Amino acid sequence: MEGWVSMPKVELHAHLNGSVRDSTLLELARVLGEKGVIVFSDVEHVILKNERSLTEVFRLFDLIHILTTDHKIITRITKEVIEDFASENVVYLELRTTPKKNDSIGMSKRSYLEAVLEGIKAVNTVDVAFRPHNADVSNVKRSSLINDTCNGSTRKKIYVRLLLSIDRRETTEAAMETVKLALEMRDLGVVGIDLSGNPIVGEWMTFFPALKFAREQGLYITLHCGEVPNPKEIQAMLDLLPQRIGHACCFEEEEWKRLKSLNIPVEICLTSNIRTNSVRSIEVHHFADLYNSKHPLVICTDDSGVFSTSVSKEYNLAASAFGLGRREIFQLARNAIEYIFADDEVKRELKEIFNSAELDQ
Ligand code: 5GP
Repeated sequence: MEGWVSMPKVELHAHLNGSVRDSTLLELARVLGEKGVIVFSDVEHVILKNERSLTEVFRLFDLIHILTTDHKIITRITKEVIEDFASENVVYLELRTTPKKNDSIGMSKRSYLEAVLEGIKAVNTVDVAFRPHNADVSNVKRSSLINDTCNGSTRKKIYVRLLLSIDRRETTEAAMETVKLALEMRDLGVVGIDLSGNPIVGEWMTFFPALKFAREQGLYITLHCGEVPNPKEIQAMLDLLPQRIGHACCFEEEEWKRLKSLNIPVEICLTSNIRTNSVRSIEVHHFADLYNSKHPLVICTDDSGVFSTSVSKEYNLAASAFGLGRREIFQLARNAIEYIFADDEVKRELKEIFNSAELDQ
C-alpha cells in the first residue's frame, strides 16, 4: 500500500460523517454510553462491522449522527478527516457534508457549518488552503507551491473545498436554506451543492427548485445519481447538467449513451458500491467500461470510515481489479484536476505538483 500512499491524489467524493475514524466513533460512543444516552455494547459491533447493505449503511449514518451532532465534535472530526486525507498525500480534497439543524442543542445549519470551518482551521499537521484563490494568501504561505519548508522540515499542503449536501429526507425549504448558506459562505471555500442521502427516499421535484437555484447562482452541482434503478430520476438529473455525478451504478444503455454524450465526469467509489451491493461484483463494475471509453472519472472513497477504506486502497483496488499500472493510475489522478470545483490557479498549482511527482512513478 505504501507505494500508493506516496502518490499525489485528488479526492472529490468524501462525506464528512462517513469518513470518521472508527477509534473516534468508539470513543464518542463510550462517552454517550457512560451518560446513559446509548448502550455502548449495542453499538460497538455496528461501528466495527465491515459488510453492510445500503439500508444498513443509512442506519449506521443515523447512529453516527447521534455520536457526532455537537459543535465541538463536528470541529474535531473535520480536523481529523482532513489530517487523515493529507497523511496519504491527498493534495486536493472536496469534502461534503449535510448542514444539520438541531434546536435542542442550539445548532443551526449555519452554526454546523461554522463548526466545520473551525475544524479546517484547527488542522495542524499540514498547511490547509481552503479559501478561493485571492483569499488564499492570508491563509497559507504561497512561496512554495508544493511543500513548504519550515525550520528545515517539509510541510505538506492540502487544498480543501466544501460541498454542502442536501439530504433526500429534507423539504424544499430546508434544501433552499442549504443553498443560500452555500452562497453566503463562498468566500470561505464552499464551492457547490451535493444531493445525497438514502436513494429510495424523497422525490426529485422536492430538491429540484433548490438545485436549479444553486446552478443559476453559479454554484457547482454534483448529484448521487443512479444508486438504485430509477430511470425517470436519472433523466431528470442529467437534464440539470450537473458538473459531476456520483456512483451511476444502475444506468441502462440509453442512460450511459446520454451521460457519455454530455461528458459528465463520474465519481467512482469501488469499495462502497461493492459493500452495499449496488454493483454485484468488482468484475462487472462500470469503471472498466468508462475507463475503456475514456469517459472522465475519478476514483474516490465515499465513506472511508464506514467502508474501512482510503484513497490509496481504492487506487490499489482499481489497479488490481482492472489490470492498471502505476502510470495509468497516476494519470487518472492527474486527470481529476480537470473535474475539480476550483479556479484555474488551483488547477495550475495542482498540475505543478503532479508534474514534479511524475518522475517518481
Ligand atoms: P454527512 O453529510 O452527515 O457529513 O455525511 C453522511 C451523510 O452522507 C449520510 O447521512 C448520507 O446522507 C450521505 N451519504 C454518505 N454515503 C452515501 C452514499 O453512499 N450514498 C448516498 N446516497 N448518500 C450517502
